[in-house]
Amino acid sequence: MKKITLFMLLCTLIGCNAERPVYQSVDEYPVRKGALDEMVYTPKKTTFSVWSPNADSVALRLYSQGTGGEMVEKHSMKRGSDGTWTCTLKGDKKGLFYTFQVDTLKETPGIFAKAVGVNGRRGAVIDLAAAQPAGWETDKRPAFAGAEDAIVYELHYRDFSIHSSSGVENKGKFLALTEPDTYVEGMDGLATGIDHLKELGITHVQILPSYDYGSIDETRLADNRYNWGYDPVNYNAPEGGYSTDPYDPACRIVEMKTMIQALHQAGIRVVMDVVYNHTFDVAHSNFHNTCPHYFYRYNEDGTLGNASGCGNETASERPMMRKFIVESCRYWLTEYHIDGFRFDLMGIHDIETMRAVREMMDEIDSTLLLYGEGWAAGAPLLPNEDLAMKANITALPGVGAFCDDMRDALRGPFSDDHKGAFLAGKNENGHQESIQFGIVGCIEHPDIDMQKVNYSKKPWTLQPTQSINYVSCHDDMMLTDRLKASIDLRPGELERLDKLAQTAVLTSQGIPFLWAGEEILRDKKGVHNSYCSPDSINAIDWTRKGTNHDVFRYYQGLIALRKAHPAFHMGDADLVRRHVHFKDIADGAGVVAFVIDGAAVGDEWRTIVVVLNANRYDVEIDLPEGEFHVACADGLCPYPKTRTMEETTTVAAQSAQILYAL
Ligand code: CA
Repeated sequence: MKKITLFMLLCTLIGCNAERPVYQSVDEYPVRKGALDEMVYTPKKTTFSVWSPNADSVALRLYSQGTGGEMVEKHSMKRGSDGTWTCTLKGDKKGLFYTFQVDTLKETPGIFAKAVGVNGRRGAVIDLAAAQPAGWETDKRPAFAGAEDAIVYELHYRDFSIHSSSGVENKGKFLALTEPDTYVEGMDGLATGIDHLKELGITHVQILPSYDYGSIDETRLADNRYNWGYDPVNYNAPEGGYSTDPYDPACRIVEMKTMIQALHQAGIRVVMDVVYNHTFDVAHSNFHNTCPHYFYRYNEDGTLGNASGCGNETASERPMMRKFIVESCRYWLTEYHIDGFRFDLMGIHDIETMRAVREMMDEIDSTLLLYGEGWAAGAPLLPNEDLAMKANITALPGVGAFCDDMRDALRGPFSDDHKGAFLAGKNENGHQESIQFGIVGCIEHPDIDMQKVNYSKKPWTLQPTQSINYVSCHDDMMLTDRLKASIDLRPGELERLDKLAQTAVLTSQGIPFLWAGEEILRDKKGVHNSYCSPDSINAIDWTRKGTNHDVFRYYQGLIALRKAHPAFHMGDADLVRRHVHFKDIADGAGVVAFVIDGAAVGDEWRTIVVVLNANRYDVEIDLPEGEFHVACADGLCPYPKTRTMEETTTVAAQSAQILYAL
């Protein structure tokens, strides 16, 4: 029986704090019960709470401003048995800002602030239920059958709208994606903004980090600084720099919801990039300043783990960090109607956490997308078999990862910008096999010789939709820059090879993924890591939609073709194993060719042949029996003329051909 001390008896009588238990390590900390809300407002009272099991004292400080100014109230908080400190204040506290001070640590808005002041330094007391645009209660996710139908387009608000040619008014803001009828400056009829996305036909936009991050000073937005935003501060509040008024805590919330609402009305779902794997630093982190040493992994000598390459790595295996990730994702899905997540450096997180995220998402809607980078930037401080790495994706049904096998086989390795691969006409190192592996979505397939695949030595997906297939993303060179860096390009080759690369991506059974602007041959002037490069590097020059309209039409045509034909996105490994087969081509260097049995999956195209020819010369390919029609050839999709062939076809140099028999 536990001894009842005089102190405990006194506490019971006068209602003071529960006695602080003595913990031998952070692993003994209790988990907070229920939701992780830290500020619950009503006009009559506001309840504040924060989890910090090992604290001796926690003070709640109130301010009249989001930054600067004198503290207007200070209250001691009370410890609860699950390590959560609470304080309820009577009266209407709306409009005030708050911080928690745990012992003598830095003031913090807590780990779960949903509304914050400028630069996210203080939490804000607002009526969250009122922070929504008109019609929000009827906002619906666009109809979507499942991951096999996804075509993802990654974008950064500022890249997408900041250029003088964008025709968008709210440049660099959430609202940039809400403006209809925007056109390339001086080129009426060429749509930009949200209309451009509709015209292209993608199903999902993947927005770069949109939670509150630290690298942009929100009090100096006129400086026009740029950042990707992989430096999270408040995970559950939108970034102030993308709002029209970062000082007004409700503004960023309402404007981000307005953007999601506009995309939903345009039939486009929204995937959010989330970065739970690290914080900007530890000394100023809300995790550290509420509960030191709990949320990060440490080496035995007490130094921080650094699998993120950013100086720290979070500890998803700890129950409260896992709960934080699950609850944060749940909050974005339910409060903001986000439709999926892209996890940054997902390989830092443990498998159990990613399973818990998937399970939570399935309870809401099983068509929500979940995928991430199946790697880390350094070695995480957990055994490899426990991590959500690409090699362990077979243990994570419903969770996808980026396919670097196919990406690098097309354009060359991440480690060397100047090294080309299949697109450069190079045939060594199993480039063809790796592309074929990507085309079937990295499943086990009888035609793939895994010994020849560049990185993976065994299939790493259970279903093809677990493979995110791409040739470029925000990180690393753009495809155009990469082609210029790795190939001594002759006139016209840039356009041809760009189209060829995306044909591989958009005819693959994985989820195709495009980086904004590739469809109009945007470039980043050769910059590889443009995370804080100026607009002159990152902005999309929309006049290229005019000069490269032919490329845009090709991407648009391929997307329409994919959407119209289930044969290109079967969504089931067994179907792909049985009905997608690669052709063995004598003297087939620089060529990938495959045949799809469309009839078997109910496609009106009975037999489909896809040929990718990276050579600087035409190749002749034998066709299966039947009369074949041309859907895509010579860099044109749809192919504008009626053309049929039997027995053989000639595929032009550095181009793709898609043929079908009815
Ligand atoms: Ca910020």
